[in-house]
Parts: sequence; structure tokens; C-alpha cells
Amino acid sequence: HVYLDNAATTPMHPAVVQAMTDQMMNDFGNASSTHFFGRTAHAALDKARGQLASTLHTKPDHIVFTGGATESNNTAIMQTARANAGRGKHIITTAIEHLSVLKPMRTLEAEGFTVTYLPVDENGEISLADFKAALDDETILVSIMYGNNEVGSVMPIAEIGALLADHQALFHVDATQAFGLIDLDPAKLGIDLLSASAHKLNGPKGVGLLYRSDNVHIKPLLQGGEQESKRRAGTENIPGIVGFGTAVALLNQDAKAQKQADFLQFSHQITAALTAADVEFHVNGNLEHQRLQHVLNLWLPGASTYALQTNLDLAGFAISGGSACTAGSLEPSHVLTAMYGEDSPRISESIRISFGTTTTAEDVDAFAQALIKIVRRLLARKQK
Ligand code: PLP
Repeated sequence: HVYLDNAATTPMHPAVVQAMTDQMMNDFGNASSTHFFGRTAHAALDKARGQLASTLHTKPDHIVFTGGATESNNTAIMQTARANAGRGKHIITTAIEHLSVLKPMRTLEAEGFTVTYLPVDENGEISLADFKAALDDETILVSIMYGNNEVGSVMPIAEIGALLADHQALFHVDATQAFGLIDLDPAKLGIDLLSASAHKLNGPKGVGLLYRSDNVHIKPLLQGGEQESKRRAGTENIPGIVGFGTAVALLNQDAKAQKQADFLQFSHQITAALTAADVEFHVNGNLEHQRLQHVLNLWLPGASTYALQTNLDLAGFAISGGSACTAGSLEPSHVLTAMYGEDSPRISESIRISFGTTTTAEDVDAFAQALIKIVRRLLARKQK
């Protein structure tokens, strides 16, 4: 089986598994305990916090460990909006955020906040003019993803950060898909809050982080104990956090840049094979633009997402019809809908292919050949 669904999750790196296993076998203590076992667990927690902080060019105190990007997004959005409601009730986000951003927005709307959902063009990109037009004195929070999980488009984060420098609004960025691929310096980018998740970069599931800048006070969403400097209650998932720290320590800037280049090459390999075979396709998004290169979203006119996905699965290739969270439902992709309109055939005839550190050129080639065969078969069947 070939795994080409790395935007959904990634296989754990063996060094991550080893570090977590060592942690679980030798050091089960509660990091809040004051005895030897607790101190040892706390040391592991501190080490991982340092690793994450250094990746983000920040201090350990700016990293809050969470149960994943979903929790980070929920906390960043709902808690800062509620805490700042006295200064205004307007929030700006985009139409193509992950549901862990969009659903908290709907909750806030029900609580009386007004949310502007910035539209995207056919490249899956927002316009700075739309952003500037939406920003007003009532805006208290801006939440915009770094890069999209379905099509790989990136948002003008640095430009928005600069525009918000003298504005009261806090700037939250869901960097879940970008974290392992782009070197991120939130302070330089003008970001106040940033979410990431370990399992997207060969770490374990169920652990993430919320970065906060100096000026941000996080009121915990989960209440209870005083863990994470009173910013997130609950006994820390030390094995998961150690795995997260190990996963980021395995990445460095050069490795990230190289991955982006390799992944773009994989996309070109697939599009070249389809072109050579005379199979009609269109990229959803724009490969020529700056983007997260691990995601390739293709429209294959005449072939349904469902048929493509199941036939590829039978042939041994794991891809996705959209984002993993909605893959089980028959809901159309809100991302493709925002890009092309709800009547576009692209919404029901597209697939997402996503590359990772374990993807090889041979796998990609085998995938392209399988896809060509399957599309031809599906189209021939349709013509009968
Ligand atoms: N945000 C984006 C852009 C994602 O792709 C994901 C992945 O599913 C999430 C948030 C949620 O991450 P998690 O499932 O780790 O909570």
C-alpha cells in the first residue's frame, strides 16, 4: 500500500517512537509532582518545550501544550474573543479555514459576535484589499490559516501581520499544515497566537501547541489544575509532548526547504504523466504560486471523487477526497465551494494527494500510472 494522504496525518518517525517508548517505559511520573518521579517528568516536559520554542524562534514560556490543533484553535479563538469582547465584537477569518476554526466562529456568532469570512479566488487565495476593507475599529481578532489543508494555498500572513501592527486586533494563525514545511517566526510575522499539531510532522496524534506572544493572556478553555502556567488544565501528555519535541528536533530549515522542493517535483511528476497520457485534469489551486507543496488537489472531469478514491484504494493507493475530517461524510468541500462556486463539477470530481517524508518518486510514479488507468476505465464506462 502506498500512503499519499499526509495532509490527514503522517507516519511516526522511528526516532519519535523510540523517544516516546523510552519515556513511557522509564518515566511515568506526573510533571506536577514534587518528588523525584515528578521532577524527571518535568525535565522531559521542559526539554520538549525548549525544542518547540527554538523551532518558533521564541522563549519556552510562549509555548502552551494542548491536545492538538483543534484544541489550540478553539482556545485561541473563543477565549481571546470572549476576553476582548469589551473592545469590540468583530472577527475576521477566511471561508476556507479548517472546521476547528469555523465551528468556534459559529459559536461566537451565536454569542453575539460578527464574523467576516474573507472569500478566496480560484487559486484558493484571499485578497489584501478584502482584508483591509473588512478591518475596522470593532475588530478584536483575526484568524487566518497559514496554508490550506485541501489545496495548499498560502495566505499573506506577513502582510496581514504588518497591517495589524498598530491595530488592537489579535492575530491568530492556524499553522497546522505549514509547521513542518515552513520556517515560522511568529514575532517577525506579527502573529500573536499560532496553532500546530504534532501528527502532521511525523509526531504522535493528540498533542499540539498554542504559541502566544508576550502581550497575550490565555484564559484556559479546559479548567481545572494549574498546569501549563494556568493556561491549560489537565495532566500533561508527557510521552506525546516528548514525541512532538523529538519530531521538531528532526527538522531543520534546510530539510524544510528541501521537502518543499521535492514535493513540488512529485506534483509535476503526476501532472506530466497525466499530460503524457492525454488524461484531462485541472489543478485546484495554482502550482505556480507560493504554496504548501505537499498538497496536490486535482480535478479529473467526468470521474467522481468517490469512484476515484475507492478504485485507488483497491489498487493500493491511499488518497483523500478532501480533508480527512469530512471524508466520512458526503458533505461537499467548503474549500472547493469557496474557490469555484457550489455548482462547479470540481466539487464532486476532485481528489487530494498529499506527500510526506516517506513518499518516494517510485511511489508517485506508480500512483500516476494507476490513476491514469482508473480515470480511463471510469470515463469509458460512462460513455457506454
Ligand atoms: N487545522 C488544520 C489546517 C488541519 O489540517 C488540521 C488537521 O486535521 C487541524 C487544524 C486539526 O488538527 P488536529 O486534528 O490535530 O486537532
